[in-house]
Amino acid sequence: MATAAAAASQVAVSAPVVSSRGARSSRIQGGSNLSFTNRSWIGTTLASESKVAAQRRHVSKVLCSVQQASKSKVAVTPLHLESAKEPPLNTYKPKGPYTATIVSVERAVGPNAPGETCHVVIDHGGNVPYWEGQSYGIIPPGENPKKPGNPQNVRLYSIASTRYGDSFDGKTASLCVRRAVYYDPQTGKEDPSKNGVCSNFLCNSKPGDKIQLTGPSGKIMLLPEDDPNATHIMIATGTGVAPYRGYLRRMFMEDVPNYRFGGLAWLFLGVANSDSLLYDEEFTSYLKQYPDNFRFDKALSREQKNKNGGKMYVQDKIEEYSDEIFKLLDGGAHIYFCGLKGMMPGIQETLKKVAEQRGESWDQKLSQLKKNKQWHVEVY
Ligand code: FAD
Repeated sequence: MATAAAAASQVAVSAPVVSSRGARSSRIQGGSNLSFTNRSWIGTTLASESKVAAQRRHVSKVLCSVQQASKSKVAVTPLHLESAKEPPLNTYKPKGPYTATIVSVERAVGPNAPGETCHVVIDHGGNVPYWEGQSYGIIPPGENPKKPGNPQNVRLYSIASTRYGDSFDGKTASLCVRRAVYYDPQTGKEDPSKNGVCSNFLCNSKPGDKIQLTGPSGKIMLLPEDDPNATHIMIATGTGVAPYRGYLRRMFMEDVPNYRFGGLAWLFLGVANSDSLLYDEEFTSYLKQYPDNFRFDKALSREQKNKNGGKMYVQDKIEEYSDEIFKLLDGGAHIYFCGLKGMMPGIQETLKKVAEQRGESWDQKLSQLKKNKQWHVEVY
Protein backbone atom coordinates (compact mmCIF):
# COMPACT_ATOMS: atom_id res chain seq x y z
CA MET A 1 0.00 0.00 0.00
CA ALA A 2 1.15 3.50 -0.72
CA THR A 3 2.36 5.66 2.09
CA ALA A 4 3.48 9.21 2.29
CA ALA A 5 7.02 7.87 2.66
CA ALA A 6 6.66 6.36 -0.78
CA ALA A 7 5.72 9.75 -2.07
CA ALA A 8 8.69 11.60 -0.58
CA SER A 9 9.92 14.29 -2.89
CA GLN A 10 13.00 14.22 -5.06
CA VAL A 11 13.74 17.05 -7.38
CA ALA A 12 15.02 15.46 -10.59
CA VAL A 13 12.77 16.11 -13.56
CA SER A 14 11.56 12.98 -15.28
CA ALA A 15 11.11 12.26 -18.95
CA PRO A 16 7.66 13.08 -20.31
CA VAL A 17 4.98 10.62 -19.29
CA VAL A 18 1.99 9.56 -21.32
CA SER A 19 -1.24 9.62 -19.40
CA SER A 20 -4.04 7.12 -19.83
CA ARG A 21 -5.77 9.76 -21.93
CA GLY A 22 -2.83 9.67 -24.33
CA ALA A 23 -1.71 13.15 -23.40
CA ARG A 24 1.92 14.04 -22.81
CA SER A 25 3.17 15.81 -19.78
CA SER A 26 6.15 15.79 -17.47
CA ARG A 27 6.51 15.61 -13.73
CA ILE A 28 9.09 15.88 -11.03
CA GLN A 29 10.32 12.36 -10.40
CA GLY A 30 9.10 10.91 -7.16
CA GLY A 31 7.22 14.09 -6.37
CA SER A 32 3.95 12.25 -6.86
CA ASN A 33 4.38 8.51 -6.95
CA LEU A 34 0.64 8.26 -6.51
CA SER A 35 -0.08 11.01 -8.94
CA PHE A 36 -3.02 11.64 -11.17
CA THR A 37 -1.65 9.22 -13.77
CA ASN A 38 -0.48 6.54 -11.36
CA ARG A 39 -3.61 4.66 -10.45
CA SER A 40 -1.88 1.69 -8.81
CA TRP A 41 -3.86 2.31 -5.62
CA ILE A 42 -7.07 1.46 -7.51
CA GLY A 43 -6.00 -2.15 -8.19
CA THR A 44 -4.80 -2.66 -4.62
CA THR A 45 -7.88 -1.31 -2.99
CA LEU A 46 -10.24 -3.13 -5.33
CA ALA A 47 -8.46 -6.44 -4.69
CA SER A 48 -8.77 -6.03 -0.95
CA GLU A 49 -12.32 -4.89 -1.38
CA SER A 50 -13.39 -8.09 -3.14
CA LYS A 51 -12.34 -10.08 -0.04
CA VAL A 52 -14.02 -7.53 2.17
CA ALA A 53 -17.19 -7.66 0.05
CA ALA A 54 -17.35 -11.44 0.51
CA GLN A 55 -17.01 -11.04 4.28
CA ARG A 56 -19.53 -8.23 4.30
CA ARG A 57 -22.31 -10.52 3.11
CA HIS A 58 -21.93 -12.51 6.33
CA VAL A 59 -21.64 -9.77 8.90
CA SER A 60 -24.06 -7.54 10.64
CA LYS A 61 -25.34 -4.54 8.69
CA VAL A 62 -24.34 -2.30 11.54
CA LEU A 63 -20.78 -2.18 10.19
CA CYS A 64 -20.77 0.20 7.25
CA SER A 65 -18.87 -0.68 4.10
CA VAL A 66 -16.43 2.20 4.53
CA GLN A 67 -15.36 1.02 7.96
CA GLN A 68 -14.82 -2.48 6.67
CA ALA A 69 -12.81 -1.36 3.69
CA SER A 70 -10.69 1.13 5.59
CA LYS A 71 -7.72 -1.24 5.66
CA SER A 72 -7.32 -0.75 1.92
CA LYS A 73 -7.19 3.01 2.20
CA VAL A 74 -4.05 5.10 1.79
CA ALA A 75 -2.20 6.34 4.89
CA VAL A 76 -1.89 10.12 5.13
CA THR A 77 0.47 12.37 6.99
CA PRO A 78 0.99 14.66 8.90
CA LEU A 79 -2.09 14.02 10.99
CA HIS A 80 -1.73 17.34 12.81
CA LEU A 81 -3.46 18.76 9.71
CA GLU A 82 -6.62 17.46 11.39
CA SER A 83 -6.16 19.26 14.67
CA ALA A 84 -7.01 22.91 13.86
CA LYS A 85 -10.50 23.98 14.97
CA GLU A 86 -10.88 26.51 12.16
CA PRO A 87 -9.80 26.30 8.51
CA PRO A 88 -6.69 28.25 7.51
CA LEU A 89 -7.64 31.53 5.79
CA ASN A 90 -5.54 33.89 3.66
CA THR A 91 -2.21 32.76 5.07
CA TYR A 92 -0.62 34.43 2.03
CA LYS A 93 -2.07 37.66 0.68
CA PRO A 94 -1.63 39.28 -2.76
CA LYS A 95 1.02 41.67 -1.40
CA GLY A 96 3.08 38.81 0.05
CA PRO A 97 2.38 35.66 -1.98
CA TYR A 98 4.06 32.30 -1.38
CA THR A 99 6.44 31.11 -4.10
CA ALA A 100 5.47 27.53 -4.88
CA THR A 101 6.81 25.05 -7.44
CA ILE A 102 5.00 23.21 -10.20
CA VAL A 103 5.24 19.43 -9.77
CA SER A 104 3.30 18.34 -12.85
CA VAL A 105 0.83 19.50 -15.46
CA GLU A 106 -1.22 16.84 -17.18
CA ARG A 107 -4.01 17.06 -19.70
CA ALA A 108 -7.07 15.73 -17.91
CA VAL A 109 -9.40 15.20 -20.87
CA GLY A 110 -9.41 12.98 -23.95
CA PRO A 111 -8.68 13.99 -27.56
CA ASN A 112 -12.32 14.66 -28.46
CA ALA A 113 -13.06 17.04 -25.60
CA PRO A 114 -13.83 20.55 -26.73
CA GLY A 115 -11.12 22.70 -25.13
CA GLU A 116 -8.44 21.64 -22.71
CA THR A 117 -8.50 21.06 -18.97
CA CYS A 118 -5.31 20.33 -17.04
CA HIS A 119 -4.58 18.76 -13.69
CA VAL A 120 -1.87 20.88 -12.09
CA VAL A 121 0.03 19.68 -9.03
CA ILE A 122 1.77 22.36 -6.98
CA ASP A 123 4.41 21.83 -4.28
CA HIS A 124 3.84 24.23 -1.38
CA GLY A 125 6.24 22.36 0.90
CA GLY A 126 3.55 22.09 3.60
CA ASN A 127 3.65 25.87 4.03
CA VAL A 128 0.20 26.74 2.61
CA PRO A 129 -2.15 24.24 4.27
CA TYR A 130 -5.80 24.24 3.28
CA TRP A 131 -8.98 22.27 3.82
CA GLU A 132 -11.05 20.45 1.22
CA GLY A 133 -13.35 22.85 -0.65
CA GLN A 134 -11.08 25.90 -0.34
CA SER A 135 -9.44 27.80 -3.20
CA TYR A 136 -5.95 29.07 -3.89
CA GLY A 137 -5.20 32.35 -5.62
CA ILE A 138 -2.60 32.47 -8.37
CA ILE A 139 -0.89 35.67 -9.51
CA PRO A 140 0.24 35.12 -13.10
CA PRO A 141 3.51 36.75 -14.14
CA GLY A 142 3.50 40.07 -15.96
CA GLU A 143 2.03 43.49 -15.59
CA ASN A 144 -1.61 44.26 -14.93
CA PRO A 145 -2.81 45.76 -18.23
CA LYS A 146 -5.37 47.86 -16.36
CA LYS A 147 -2.86 49.11 -13.74
CA PRO A 148 0.52 49.56 -15.45
CA GLY A 149 3.43 48.98 -13.09
CA ASN A 150 1.37 46.64 -10.89
CA PRO A 151 1.24 42.85 -10.84
CA GLN A 152 -1.59 40.94 -12.47
CA ASN A 153 -4.75 40.41 -10.45
CA VAL A 154 -5.17 37.21 -8.46
CA ARG A 155 -7.24 34.46 -10.11
CA LEU A 156 -8.92 31.92 -7.84
CA TYR A 157 -8.90 28.15 -8.41
CA SER A 158 -10.77 25.54 -6.37
CA ILE A 159 -8.36 23.04 -4.88
CA ALA A 160 -8.95 19.57 -6.35
CA SER A 161 -7.04 17.55 -3.75
CA THR A 162 -7.46 16.87 -0.06
CA ARG A 163 -5.32 18.67 2.50
CA TYR A 164 -2.80 15.81 2.08
CA GLY A 165 -2.42 16.43 -1.65
CA ASP A 166 -2.11 13.81 -4.35
CA SER A 167 1.05 12.41 -2.72
CA PHE A 168 -0.65 12.07 0.68
CA ASP A 169 2.10 13.95 2.51
CA GLY A 170 0.51 17.38 3.00
CA LYS A 171 3.04 19.07 0.74
CA THR A 172 1.12 19.54 -2.49
CA ALA A 173 -2.18 20.88 -3.78
CA SER A 174 -3.81 20.11 -7.12
CA LEU A 175 -5.85 22.38 -9.36
CA CYS A 176 -8.18 21.52 -12.22
CA VAL A 177 -7.72 24.31 -14.76
CA ARG A 178 -9.57 24.90 -17.99
CA ARG A 179 -7.66 26.93 -20.57
CA ALA A 180 -9.64 30.07 -21.38
CA VAL A 181 -9.37 30.44 -25.15
CA TYR A 182 -10.82 33.36 -27.11
CA TYR A 183 -12.51 32.79 -30.46
CA ASP A 184 -13.23 35.83 -32.60
CA PRO A 185 -17.01 35.87 -33.08
CA GLN A 186 -16.61 37.27 -36.62
CA THR A 187 -14.07 34.79 -37.98
CA GLY A 188 -14.58 31.92 -35.53
CA LYS A 189 -10.77 31.71 -35.27
CA GLU A 190 -8.73 31.65 -32.07
CA ASP A 191 -7.17 35.00 -31.15
CA PRO A 192 -4.25 34.09 -28.87
CA SER A 193 -3.74 37.74 -27.87
CA LYS A 194 -7.06 37.53 -25.99
CA ASN A 195 -6.64 34.09 -24.42
CA GLY A 196 -6.99 33.89 -20.64
CA VAL A 197 -3.73 34.89 -18.94
CA CYS A 198 -3.65 32.74 -15.80
CA SER A 199 -5.28 29.56 -17.06
CA ASN A 200 -2.88 29.45 -20.03
CA PHE A 201 0.07 30.25 -17.77
CA LEU A 202 -0.85 27.32 -15.51
CA CYS A 203 -1.59 24.86 -18.33
CA ASN A 204 1.70 25.80 -20.07
CA SER A 205 3.78 25.52 -16.88
CA LYS A 206 6.56 22.96 -16.62
CA PRO A 207 7.80 21.00 -13.59
CA GLY A 208 10.11 23.16 -11.52
CA ASP A 209 8.50 26.45 -12.61
CA LYS A 210 7.81 28.89 -9.78
CA ILE A 211 4.33 30.31 -9.19
CA GLN A 212 2.96 32.98 -6.86
CA LEU A 213 0.28 31.61 -4.55
CA THR A 214 -2.24 33.32 -2.26
CA GLY A 215 -4.82 31.95 0.14
CA PRO A 216 -6.24 29.56 0.96
CA SER A 217 -9.66 31.21 0.77
CA GLY A 218 -13.33 30.32 1.03
CA LYS A 219 -15.55 28.73 3.65
CA ILE A 220 -18.76 28.11 1.76
CA MET A 221 -17.60 24.85 0.15
CA LEU A 222 -15.95 23.34 3.21
CA LEU A 223 -17.07 19.77 3.77
CA PRO A 224 -19.25 19.66 6.91
CA GLU A 225 -17.83 16.79 8.95
CA ASP A 226 -19.86 17.00 12.15
CA ASP A 227 -21.94 14.04 10.96
CA PRO A 228 -19.83 11.39 9.15
CA ASN A 229 -23.07 9.69 8.05
CA ALA A 230 -24.53 12.75 6.31
CA THR A 231 -25.69 12.91 2.70
CA HIS A 232 -23.81 15.19 0.30
CA ILE A 233 -25.35 15.94 -3.10
CA MET A 234 -22.65 17.47 -5.30
CA ILE A 235 -23.52 19.16 -8.56
CA ALA A 236 -20.80 20.26 -10.97
CA THR A 237 -20.24 21.47 -14.46
CA GLY A 238 -16.72 20.99 -15.85
CA THR A 239 -13.95 22.16 -13.52
CA GLY A 240 -16.62 22.66 -10.85
CA VAL A 241 -15.87 19.05 -9.98
CA ALA A 242 -12.58 20.15 -8.35
CA PRO A 243 -13.74 20.52 -4.72
CA TYR A 244 -15.70 17.25 -4.96
CA ARG A 245 -12.58 15.35 -6.02
CA GLY A 246 -11.09 16.51 -2.71
CA TYR A 247 -14.17 15.49 -0.72
CA LEU A 248 -14.33 12.07 -2.38
CA ARG A 249 -10.66 11.29 -1.87
CA ARG A 250 -11.11 12.15 1.81
CA MET A 251 -14.23 9.99 2.05
CA PHE A 252 -13.11 6.96 0.04
CA MET A 253 -9.39 6.95 -0.71
CA GLU A 254 -7.63 8.21 2.38
CA ASP A 255 -7.32 6.65 5.79
CA VAL A 256 -8.22 9.63 7.97
CA PRO A 257 -8.62 8.37 11.54
CA ASN A 258 -11.07 11.09 12.61
CA TYR A 259 -13.25 11.01 9.47
CA ARG A 260 -14.75 7.63 8.68
CA PHE A 261 -17.40 8.42 6.13
CA GLY A 262 -20.46 6.20 6.27
CA GLY A 263 -23.06 8.44 4.62
CA LEU A 264 -24.02 9.00 0.98
CA ALA A 265 -22.07 11.08 -1.52
CA TRP A 266 -23.98 11.64 -4.77
CA LEU A 267 -22.15 13.35 -7.63
CA PHE A 268 -23.87 14.88 -10.66
CA LEU A 269 -21.32 15.92 -13.28
CA GLY A 270 -22.21 17.81 -16.44
CA VAL A 271 -19.69 17.99 -19.30
CA ALA A 272 -19.85 18.05 -23.12
CA ASN A 273 -18.96 14.45 -23.94
CA SER A 274 -17.32 11.33 -22.51
CA ASP A 275 -13.85 12.60 -23.43
CA SER A 276 -14.51 15.66 -21.26
CA LEU A 277 -15.19 13.61 -18.10
CA LEU A 278 -12.78 14.56 -15.32
CA TYR A 279 -11.30 12.09 -12.82
CA ASP A 280 -13.62 9.42 -14.16
CA GLU A 281 -11.40 6.47 -13.20
CA GLU A 282 -11.23 7.61 -9.60
CA PHE A 283 -14.97 8.13 -9.36
CA THR A 284 -15.78 4.86 -11.11
CA SER A 285 -13.54 2.97 -8.70
CA TYR A 286 -15.46 4.42 -5.73
CA LEU A 287 -18.68 3.17 -7.32
CA LYS A 288 -17.24 -0.34 -7.39
CA GLN A 289 -15.79 -0.15 -3.88
CA TYR A 290 -18.55 1.72 -2.09
CA PRO A 291 -21.82 1.10 -3.93
CA ASP A 292 -23.81 1.84 -0.77
CA ASN A 293 -22.07 5.15 -0.14
CA PHE A 294 -21.46 6.65 -3.58
CA ARG A 295 -23.67 7.49 -6.55
CA PHE A 296 -22.44 9.08 -9.75
CA ASP A 297 -24.64 10.49 -12.52
CA LYS A 298 -23.25 12.09 -15.66
CA ALA A 299 -24.92 14.52 -18.04
CA LEU A 300 -23.12 14.53 -21.40
CA SER A 301 -24.74 17.40 -23.29
CA ARG A 302 -23.37 16.46 -26.71
CA GLU A 303 -23.92 12.72 -26.41
CA GLN A 304 -27.11 12.20 -24.42
CA LYS A 305 -30.66 13.43 -24.93
CA ASN A 306 -33.02 14.53 -22.17
CA LYS A 307 -36.58 13.24 -21.95
CA ASN A 308 -37.76 15.95 -24.38
CA GLY A 309 -35.15 15.04 -26.99
CA GLY A 310 -32.95 18.06 -26.15
CA LYS A 311 -29.36 18.12 -24.90
CA MET A 312 -28.79 16.46 -21.55
CA TYR A 313 -27.72 19.05 -18.99
CA VAL A 314 -27.06 18.53 -15.32
CA GLN A 315 -30.48 20.01 -14.42
CA ASP A 316 -32.14 17.29 -16.53
CA LYS A 317 -30.41 14.67 -14.38
CA ILE A 318 -31.54 16.53 -11.26
CA GLU A 319 -35.12 16.48 -12.55
CA GLU A 320 -34.87 12.75 -13.23
CA TYR A 321 -34.02 12.12 -9.57
CA SER A 322 -35.94 15.03 -8.09
CA ASP A 323 -38.15 12.97 -5.78
CA GLU A 324 -35.16 11.33 -4.14
CA ILE A 325 -33.23 14.61 -4.00
CA PHE A 326 -36.11 16.45 -2.33
CA LYS A 327 -36.55 13.65 0.21
CA LEU A 328 -32.83 13.69 1.00
CA LEU A 329 -32.91 17.49 1.41
CA ASP A 330 -35.90 17.15 3.74
CA GLY A 331 -33.78 14.69 5.72
CA GLY A 332 -30.97 17.24 6.11
CA ALA A 333 -28.74 16.49 3.08
CA HIS A 334 -26.18 19.08 2.01
CA ILE A 335 -26.34 20.22 -1.61
CA TYR A 336 -23.40 21.85 -3.39
CA PHE A 337 -23.15 23.63 -6.74
CA CYS A 338 -19.82 24.43 -8.35
CA GLY A 339 -18.84 25.44 -11.88
CA LEU A 340 -19.75 28.09 -14.38
CA LYS A 341 -22.23 30.78 -13.27
CA GLY A 342 -24.46 29.88 -16.21
CA MET A 343 -25.37 26.55 -14.58
CA MET A 344 -27.46 28.10 -11.81
CA PRO A 345 -30.49 29.64 -13.60
CA GLY A 346 -31.40 26.33 -15.33
CA ILE A 347 -30.94 24.37 -12.11
CA GLN A 348 -32.95 26.84 -10.01
CA GLU A 349 -35.74 26.78 -12.59
CA THR A 350 -35.84 22.98 -12.48
CA LEU A 351 -35.87 22.90 -8.67
CA LYS A 352 -38.64 25.50 -8.59
CA LYS A 353 -40.69 23.50 -11.10
CA VAL A 354 -40.25 20.29 -9.12
CA ALA A 355 -41.16 22.04 -5.85
CA GLU A 356 -44.35 23.41 -7.41
CA GLN A 357 -45.28 19.96 -8.73
CA ARG A 358 -44.91 18.72 -5.16
CA GLY A 359 -47.11 21.54 -3.87
CA GLU A 360 -44.21 23.25 -2.11
CA SER A 361 -42.95 26.81 -2.31
CA TRP A 362 -39.40 26.82 -3.68
CA ASP A 363 -38.66 30.24 -2.18
CA GLN A 364 -39.55 29.00 1.30
CA LYS A 365 -37.66 25.76 0.82
CA LEU A 366 -34.58 27.59 -0.43
CA SER A 367 -34.52 30.01 2.48
CA GLN A 368 -34.89 27.06 4.86
CA LEU A 369 -32.00 25.22 3.18
CA LYS A 370 -29.85 28.35 3.46
CA LYS A 371 -30.84 28.86 7.09
CA ASN A 372 -29.95 25.24 7.89
CA LYS A 373 -26.57 25.66 6.13
CA GLN A 374 -27.46 22.86 3.69
CA TRP A 375 -27.07 25.02 0.55
CA HIS A 376 -23.52 25.64 -0.77
CA VAL A 377 -22.88 27.53 -4.01
CA GLU A 378 -19.58 28.52 -5.61
CA VAL A 379 -19.96 29.53 -9.24
CA TYR A 380 -17.65 31.68 -11.37
P1 FAD B 1 -8.41 36.29 -18.08
O1 FAD B 1 -7.13 36.74 -18.65
O2 FAD B 1 -8.81 36.81 -16.76
O3 FAD B 1 -9.56 36.55 -19.14
C1 FAD B 1 -10.92 36.24 -18.81
C2 FAD B 1 -11.69 35.92 -20.10
O4 FAD B 1 -11.70 37.06 -20.94
C3 FAD B 1 -11.03 34.80 -20.91
O5 FAD B 1 -12.04 33.94 -21.37
C4 FAD B 1 -10.37 35.54 -22.07
O6 FAD B 1 -10.29 34.72 -23.24
C5 FAD B 1 -11.31 36.71 -22.25
N1 FAD B 1 -10.65 37.87 -22.85
C6 FAD B 1 -9.38 38.32 -22.68
N2 FAD B 1 -9.17 39.45 -23.39
C7 FAD B 1 -10.32 39.74 -24.02
C8 FAD B 1 -10.75 40.80 -24.90
N3 FAD B 1 -9.93 41.77 -25.27
N4 FAD B 1 -12.01 40.75 -25.35
C9 FAD B 1 -12.87 39.76 -24.98
N5 FAD B 1 -12.52 38.74 -24.15
C10 FAD B 1 -11.27 38.74 -23.68
N6 FAD B 1 -11.27 28.14 -13.18
C11 FAD B 1 -10.84 26.89 -13.46
O7 FAD B 1 -10.42 26.61 -14.59
N7 FAD B 1 -10.85 25.92 -12.49
C12 FAD B 1 -11.29 26.16 -11.23
O8 FAD B 1 -11.28 25.24 -10.38
C13 FAD B 1 -11.73 27.48 -10.92
N8 FAD B 1 -12.18 27.76 -9.68
C14 FAD B 1 -12.61 29.02 -9.39
C15 FAD B 1 -13.07 29.30 -8.10
C16 FAD B 1 -13.53 30.55 -7.79
C17 FAD B 1 -14.04 30.83 -6.39
C18 FAD B 1 -13.54 31.57 -8.78
C19 FAD B 1 -14.05 32.94 -8.46
C20 FAD B 1 -13.07 31.31 -10.06
C21 FAD B 1 -12.60 30.03 -10.39
N9 FAD B 1 -12.12 29.73 -11.66
C22 FAD B 1 -11.70 28.46 -11.96
C23 FAD B 1 -12.00 30.77 -12.72
C24 FAD B 1 -10.57 31.39 -12.69
O9 FAD B 1 -10.42 32.14 -11.49
C25 FAD B 1 -10.29 32.35 -13.86
O10 FAD B 1 -11.32 33.31 -13.91
C26 FAD B 1 -10.21 31.64 -15.20
O11 FAD B 1 -9.17 30.69 -15.21
C27 FAD B 1 -9.89 32.68 -16.31
O12 FAD B 1 -8.74 33.39 -15.93
P2 FAD B 1 -7.62 33.77 -17.02
O13 FAD B 1 -6.59 34.59 -16.35
O14 FAD B 1 -7.18 32.58 -17.78
O15 FAD B 1 -8.46 34.69 -18.02
